[in-house]
Amino acid sequence: MAECKAAVVTKFNSPLEVWSVPIPEMATGGALAKVEAATLCGTDAHRWQGHLTEGGGVDLPFIEPTTTPFVPGHETCSRLAETRGQLFDLMNQPLKVGDRVIASYPHCGHCYYCTVTRQTTLCAKNLSFGHSAPNALLGGCAEYHYYPPGGSFIRVPDEVSSPLAASAACALRTVMHGYEQLGALASHESVLILGCGPLGLYSLAVAKDLGARRTLVIGAPQARLKVAQEWGADAVLNLDETPQLKDRRQWVLDHTGGRGADVTFQCANSRALPESLQMTRPGGRLINIGVSGGPALEFDPMMFFKQVRINSVVMAEARHFYQAIDFLATRRRDFKFDQLLSGTYSLDKTGDALKAMAEYREVKPVVMPAAA
Ligand SMILES: [Zn+2]
Ligand SMILES: [Zn+2]
Repeated sequence: MAECKAAVVTKFNSPLEVWSVPIPEMATGGALAKVEAATLCGTDAHRWQGHLTEGGGVDLPFIEPTTTPFVPGHETCSRLAETRGQLFDLMNQPLKVGDRVIASYPHCGHCYYCTVTRQTTLCAKNLSFGHSAPNALLGGCAEYHYYPPGGSFIRVPDEVSSPLAASAACALRTVMHGYEQLGALASHESVLILGCGPLGLYSLAVAKDLGARRTLVIGAPQARLKVAQEWGADAVLNLDETPQLKDRRQWVLDHTGGRGADVTFQCANSRALPESLQMTRPGGRLINIGVSGGPALEFDPMMFFKQVRINSVVMAEARHFYQAIDFLATRRRDFKFDQLLSGTYSLDKTGDALKAMAEYREVKPVVMPAAA
């Protein structure tokens, strides 16, 4: 097997091409895996649209620019096909060909962020997937995915489907990272979630699981709010039907004893951060997960008198991938996780999936490269 098929973005905002690309030379400790499922998220759509052509520069060296051509897909569940040397999963169990895995991004392992602060997502050599040249084979929308050494493999138990496992490799692991930054959630605390895409819904599931006193969700469209209700949200508010910020704020106050939420998860995009701050009670906590570019944000500086603790979360460490897979496996009777997944696409229809994602017609499309 010298080549495999990969969906390639050759031009931003344009149909994809399916290329035959050479299987890369594997480094010791690397692995080649057959892709079982690749789910797409907003980041993939932004990359396809050409919104992320600038890297993070000197302040954010771990954010790389996206240039064409590239293979999309950074949420991948795959089956090991070949390994270079004996590999081990995160639990130090030996891996063998045929094992189903998700993988965290490789990082250098010896810089300040990898060793001293243990924040490996901030490593300048953090190698995120889904935006590399086709020959690197570092995207999920391909028959095979190459995993260079430096990341961790997390085994996927039988009870978790490949598409769901793939969704854990981005949305849920980031949510787990957010909850780690939050710290303990007390039983009397209310949790407000802004956004009801996969990040918002997973944040809701974890809040319920941790025993939040009350969970509130603001988002759209109605179908996703319905899922939030089925997953136990105590109250939901349709963003489309409540265009005025003052009305949304009043709704939150009405549900939180007039104080605002004890904890807010911003799972929409950066534009929602000022609103999130307004919705959080004085002294509360705000976890910012939804990130996007665009013009500078405007804050009322008086807001900082609220003494709200703000954490912003980017990507996730290997342990969060583990927590995400474990949550899907052990809480599957509490939440119908499959409700998150939307359309299924074959490899040659990857472009349709990206377009549908960009147009908000899909929540979490699944690309199945093995499908005809
Ligand atoms: Zn490093
Ligand atoms: Zn993602």
